[in-house]
Amino acid sequence: MARYNGPACRLCRRVGEKLFLKGERCYTPRCAVDKRRSPPGEQAANAGMQRRRRISEHGTQLREKQKARFVYGTLERQFSNYMKEATRASGVTGDRLMQLLERRLDNVVYRLAFGESRNQSRQLVNHGHLEVNGRRVDIPSYMVKPGDVISWREQSRSNNYFKTMKETLPKRTVPGWLQLNAENATGTVAALPAPSEIDTKVDTRMIVEFYSKR
Ligand code: SF4
Repeated sequence: MARYNGPACRLCRRVGEKLFLKGERCYTPRCAVDKRRSPPGEQAANAGMQRRRRISEHGTQLREKQKARFVYGTLERQFSNYMKEATRASGVTGDRLMQLLERRLDNVVYRLAFGESRNQSRQLVNHGHLEVNGRRVDIPSYMVKPGDVISWREQSRSNNYFKTMKETLPKRTVPGWLQLNAENATGTVAALPAPSEIDTKVDTRMIVEFYSKR
């Protein structure tokens, strides 16, 4: 299945929740989900109430899986492979799944605040702007490991995007499993992400149940 290239806000509307796919815009009143939550006039509110349907257990599990997939921008098959790997690993399957998703290079670039959204971070990786341990890596799904150093290619440091982004780095905070060097615009993977350090709001138990019935 091809990657979804339509409007990001449509994915949030599809699951009825904010998935924060567009960076800064998601925190403004222009967010499509926020607008829908406060429709002008009582009539619109009533219409919304009437449209709301009960979702089956399977539907809820499917929605949680889709949420995680949309947030991390993975294809269906890729996601299912992460799930298989998480099931094989020791420990809590849902936690292992989230750890794998967080270790994707495009996600790490986003977490280091090099990109404003995961979508943008994926493009930065795709376009070859980033290096891992001094070697160019243009595969968004590349799995980082503790000790890896993520940096910008020398050629990319002269573009305007990099200069503007670098100025914002001293004010950015990153999760505890990553270390950001704002001065050099480099990041180090200090450890594997612990469940408490992952703030993505998905019910992993539902996702595990969804796959256990297939
Ligand atoms: Fe989702 Fe962000 Fe669009 Fe709001 S602005 S609907 S959170 S992508």
